Amino acid sequence: MGEGTWPTLRNTMRSIGIDEKTLFKMCFAGFKQGGKFVNWASEDDYYYHPFTVPLGYGNIDLAPYVDDIRSFATQSNYQQEVCEAGLAPRSLDEGEYQGICNYAYHLDAGAFADLLKDHCRDNLGVQHHVGTVNHVELDKDGHISKLNLERDGEPFNLEADMFVDCTGFRSLLLGEALGVPFKSLDDVLYNDSALAIRVPYEDQHDPMASHTIATGQNAGWIWDIGLTNRRGVGHVYSSQY
Ligand SMILES: Cc1cc2nc3c(=O)[nH]c(=O)nc-3n(C[C@H](O)[C@H](O)[C@H](O)COP(=O)(O)OP(=O)(O)OC[C@H]3O[C@@H](n4cnc5c(N)ncnc54)[C@H](O)[C@@H]3O)c2cc1C
Repeated sequence: MGEGTWPTLRNTMRSIGIDEKTLFKMCFAGFKQGGKFVNWASEDDYYYHPFTVPLGYGNIDLAPYVDDIRSFATQSNYQQEVCEAGLAPRSLDEGEYQGICNYAYHLDAGAFADLLKDHCRDNLGVQHHVGTVNHVELDKDGHISKLNLERDGEPFNLEADMFVDCTGFRSLLLGEALGVPFKSLDDVLYNDSALAIRVPYEDQHDPMASHTIATGQNAGWIWDIGLTNRRGVGHVYSSQY
């Protein structure tokens, strides 16, 4: 679903040996230098969360000296100006995954999943099995011992020492098999719904924002993420409101 990432992704990519040009090409990626929050404090207003940390970060806590969130980004560093000028955070002279400004990526999440899958399978010795989990077997101590899966009507089993539950809200391993209850935080996190769409640029020469644009709405907010081939836009909102 998501198409915005965090700067730590660069370390992950470098560590597992994917070069940055491949990431850009295969995932239609663009730079993400932070978030621009439009209409959150008041209408026709905005503030930035730049990914580059303020000078002295870690040595001094600036929070007590900030009286206005809107000026924090401009007072603490230059990245807001880079974004407002529509510029990228680095030049081609810099090495892979390096730049003066801290940055992450906007990317096509489906293409990114494929890139990770292919790289892990072809270069890192990972075996990839696709199947629907029908049943989770527990051993006598109540630990997961085996998964019963199916693909194209053909059943197969997977045994392992460790399982990571990646079934999202289905929570097949944790919730259903191990009985770990879902802990709702809807008393403090109101947004429970989203509409996500992919939209073309009106013109292929339209500028591409190098930051996520998050615009406040009556009952939630809208994200706008620019990739090289299209934009990803979505409305996250509270169904209660
Ligand atoms: C609107 C929205 C915007 C988001 N934006 C971002 C963002 O910009 N950046 C970001 O980092 N994150 C974002 N997220 C969060 C991110 O999408 C989730 O945190 C992430 O997808 C969770 O991954 P997951 O693997 O736990 O679950 P999921 O992505 O939900 O994957 C679960 C998978 O399990 C499969 N499955 C279910 N049952 C079975 C079964 N019986 N057998 C086999 N497979 C099964 C499903 O088909 C599915 O593919 C966003 C989320 C939403 C809803």
